[in-house]
Amino acid sequence: MAGDRRFEGPSDLHLHSVHSDGTESAAEVMAAAHRRGLRTVALTDHDTTSGWAEAAEAATSLGMTFLPGMELSAHSDWRSVHLLAYLFDPDDRGLRAEMERIRDDRIGRAERIVRSIGRDYPLTWDDVVAQTGHGATVGRPHIADALVARGIVSTRGDAFDTILHPRAGYYEGHYAPDVEKAVALVVAAGGVPVVAHPTPAGRARMMAIPLLEHLIGIGLAGFELDHRENTEEGKRILRTLVDEHDLIVTGSSDYHGHGKPNVPGENTTSDEMVARIIALGTGSRPVYP
Ligand code: AMP
Ligand code: FE
Ligand code: FE
Ligand code: ZN
Repeated sequence: MAGDRRFEGPSDLHLHSVHSDGTESAAEVMAAAHRRGLRTVALTDHDTTSGWAEAAEAATSLGMTFLPGMELSAHSDWRSVHLLAYLFDPDDRGLRAEMERIRDDRIGRAERIVRSIGRDYPLTWDDVVAQTGHGATVGRPHIADALVARGIVSTRGDAFDTILHPRAGYYEGHYAPDVEKAVALVVAAGGVPVVAHPTPAGRARMMAIPLLEHLIGIGLAGFELDHRENTEEGKRILRTLVDEHDLIVTGSSDYHGHGKPNVPGENTTSDEMVARIIALGTGSRPVYP
């Protein structure tokens, strides 16, 4: 498309490394994707681009095409919304400022959660720092790993089901832009915004159709429909919207190393859709092997 070099599937455009809450280095993530037979991949760490260079080098040396990406934290009312962004300019000032604000606020928020948990369990901020990559985007998964290291819970999943569950009373949110602002920032940076896992369990957790139509109007490009957390009912509703507006549909694993059971390539994105993403993105280019 548009003079671009060819890429080949299968493609998985949603993978995490230690630059956020994955458990493997960017190069290890690319190796895991390659072992699963993937040919085109994106690294989509939360709120950061710091893994791009290492991932691009590792992916291309394994013969895979690399798409620069990110999973940007956002919100819609009380809902946490994750916005996948591809091929944006990593030096765009508006988007960078927002990413830095989110990452900064995540640190204070994690410290407050840990202080609160520390009143009831033997957990310190140093425990969490020990589980977090240098400069990585801090999240509850790092607190979960610290709880595991302390022997308080046995896995990340257990931590999320118990101490990190909002019902346990230690939960705090962090700053994140409104989803409308998030879409606008990604578009202004030449990127392609796609809502990650858009229909998790519980109807109310899905953004309302009129809001989604508004977001499409300002440049939302598509939805990550094939993701293990989406409900069938939600996918049916979104497919109607996709057909009406000729949107991009992706499928991906959301691999987090051993932090989640998800494996690279468990869902994939079609060649046609990858080509559309590449044709739409103007802020950075894929890196070919
Ligand atoms: P945070 O953004 O700090 O609130 O943490 C949310 C992150 O936790 C998401 O990006 C998920 O990757 C991870 N997460 C959520 N639930 C679970 C779970 N049950 N097991 C492992 N990781 C989870
Ligand atoms: Fe995550
Ligand atoms: Fe997510
Ligand atoms: Zn993710």
